[in-house]
Amino acid sequence: MTSKIYQKNATIIDNFRINGGYYKLILATPEIADRIIPGQFVHIRINDKTDPLLRRPFSVHRVIKNKGKFNKGQIEILYGIVGRGTEILSKVSPKKKLDILGPLGNGFKIGSEYSTHILIAGGMGVAPLMFLAERLSKAKAKNPKQKIVVLIGAQTKRKIFCEKEFKKLGCDIRISTDDGSNGFKGRVNSQLTQILPLFKNQASMIYACGPEA
Ligand SMILES: Cc1cc2nc3c(=O)[nH]c(=O)nc-3n(C[C@H](O)[C@H](O)[C@H](O)COP(=O)(O)OP(=O)(O)OC[C@H]3O[C@@H](n4cnc5c(N)ncnc54)[C@H](O)[C@@H]3O)c2cc1C
Repeated sequence: MTSKIYQKNATIIDNFRINGGYYKLILATPEIADRIIPGQFVHIRINDKTDPLLRRPFSVHRVIKNKGKFNKGQIEILYGIVGRGTEILSKVSPKKKLDILGPLGNGFKIGSEYSTHILIAGGMGVAPLMFLAERLSKAKAKNPKQKIVVLIGAQTKRKIFCEKEFKKLGCDIRISTDDGSNGFKGRVNSQLTQILPLFKNQASMIYACGPEA
């Protein structure tokens, strides 16, 4: 099934720096907020000039659904500065508008028949997995036997995001850092190899987002 893709001038509600030198962008975009599913992304036109020419893709980190006239749907994006586009984006002020295109991509296929959901986030890969965990925790509320395990991997302690938020959703969190400053020392995929035997007899689904291992 193909779903409609919107091109909208979304108002920036907020755009601010969080820990680890990363940023959070909140956009008012009711149509996209209502339809986007975890793992899908939006394409953002950074400014109205021809440089940078191409739109930049960003996953949706969280969605705040439409709640009537004065509470329009919003999407949140978590991003890091890697080049010119994200540098410009980090300086865009609230109340301005950004031309966005979405929802794009297929998104995660949620395996509701599975008893254990293992989410693996490498670095900025945590961004779409928060949205996924929120959806999974709603399903878990109806079926409390379901388990959500989240593996968060980062270069160092300072770059670990959303640990508290995942905990609030009732997820079982495992941290790994490349430098060993928090949790397991090493890459998140090595930690996965270590813990997989724990789930041997459980129907498990693995969802992952991050750089190549
Ligand atoms: C589907 C999708 C979803 C994404 N979601 C997010 C997100 O939620 N948060 C976020 O921070 N980033 C996300 N990204 C990456 C983001 O799109 C890039 O960081 C951004 O486009 C870089 O633009 P720029 O103009 O700042 O950098 P550019 O000037 O375009 O690039 C600067 C340098 O970074 C490298 N680079 C650019 N993009 C990537 C990339 N995707 N991976 C590795 N190296 C790259 C380039 O090769 C270059 O060396 C996503 C990418 C994709 C494809």
